[in-house]
Amino acid sequence: MTTQNYKTALQNPVFRTVSKATSKLQFDSYVIGGFVRDFILQRGDAKDIDIVTVGNGIELAQEVALLLPGKPKVSVFKNYGTAMLKTAGIELEFVGARKESYSEESRNPEVETGTLEDDQNRRDFTINALALSLNEDTFGDLLDPFNGIEDLKKKIIRTPLDPDITYSDDPLRMMRAIRFATQLDFTIEAKSLAAITKNADRIKIISKERIVDELHKILASEVPSKGFALLHKTKLLPYILPELVALQGIDEKEGQRHKDNFWHTLEVVDNIAQTTDNLWLRWAALLHDIGKAPTKRFDKKIGWTFHAHEFVGSKMVYKLFKRLKMPLNDKMKFVQKMVLMSSRPIVLASEVTDSAVRRLIFDAGEYVEDLMTLCEADITTKNPKKFRKYHNNFQLVRDKIVEVEERDHVRTFQPPVSGEEIMKTFGLKPSREIGVIKEAIKEAILEGEIPNEYEAAKAFMLQKGTAIGLEVVSTE
Ligand code: ATP
Repeated sequence: MTTQNYKTALQNPVFRTVSKATSKLQFDSYVIGGFVRDFILQRGDAKDIDIVTVGNGIELAQEVALLLPGKPKVSVFKNYGTAMLKTAGIELEFVGARKESYSEESRNPEVETGTLEDDQNRRDFTINALALSLNEDTFGDLLDPFNGIEDLKKKIIRTPLDPDITYSDDPLRMMRAIRFATQLDFTIEAKSLAAITKNADRIKIISKERIVDELHKILASEVPSKGFALLHKTKLLPYILPELVALQGIDEKEGQRHKDNFWHTLEVVDNIAQTTDNLWLRWAALLHDIGKAPTKRFDKKIGWTFHAHEFVGSKMVYKLFKRLKMPLNDKMKFVQKMVLMSSRPIVLASEVTDSAVRRLIFDAGEYVEDLMTLCEADITTKNPKKFRKYHNNFQLVRDKIVEVEERDHVRTFQPPVSGEEIMKTFGLKPSREIGVIKEAIKEAILEGEIPNEYEAAKAFMLQKGTAIGLEVVSTE
């Protein structure tokens, strides 16, 4: 056992409090897992702290709460034998040391009380099994039975026990391995990688919510492609996002090839990760081309086409979110909108007219900047001349957006003449004509025929109404 001491990790007075409570109850306690790992990696102060005790976790939590200022409330999860309390902006989770045994069908093991060593054995990775003693006589001593410290230095993800058993027991660990490798920029050791590949189909027993949690964390990383490439390499991806797998490969017909849209997509995701932390915009980048697989055709005259892939893709977003039990709310609609509109600024870039820009702003509404960010990330050409040219074109579109929006305010378009006023003017009851006139006003504004102002819109309304045979009964 190493004798290294990490007292500096335990400067927060709460650790001495846990220590006191531990002595009083005559338990042994340790801080374990992510807190220790992240301290050594200097990843900032963790807000979640896991305490494992050779004793009763719930009793320890209650004893700690009594010693803390304000005596915080303890939340008890009897079924799991765990308890949690919040103090001074941190969350302390208490659990009794346990030994686990697994069955085929479920990732929920049979649990019995165990030693610290048993508890460390059940941890997923060596770097997550590091523990610091909170016992008074050994306070701050590191317990590292699997040489996790060395793995932290070498940046390796390794399981404490046989990886084949570790991943088969709880297949969520496969996702976690890939997530940690992506988040921390670590390498998954070869044996582990082989075991993940072998057990890939076991991912089926994991709930969609848990899988999505890990996908979110991969997407939120600095270089998300690393995670998706690993999911692909280990054959997990077909179980999770088959739509992406379908994008992989290059077809050639009559000497014409198209790009590999899977690897292209991953480049786009990495690009967008450099410019935005918006998780849903990152999702949009990941899914922006999924419509390309079902729409791919070869035409003798024009070559490869992906006709209406944006529309098809946006419909696929719904199905994908539903399948993964992701929220079917405004976040999903945002991703759909981004996918649907993902080619609009590209078409515009070759000829930036006021009316086309006005329509773009009108259709994208408050998300027009996000859409531009997506389109810029979509530039993956390796030709520096083209790269500069495309970015310059988009800069022109961005400038034009600012100019047009300052003048015309169509970003949050409100009809300048209300339906009520149209009814009053022509003495109409609610009817189809009102919609026709409103639509005509909107079109005239977007086309630049009239400014987005009340007086001009009213004059246009009078003219349009008379043209379709309506009689003016009031001009108030
Ligand atoms: P993060 O907060 O970044 O997710 P973490 O390591 O704190 O990192 P948690 O999910 O909070 O992750 O888990 C806390 C600890 O519990 C881990 O460090 C690990 O020791 C253990 N653990 C979590 N999930 C598993 C699992 N599926 N199998 C084995 N051990 C696990």
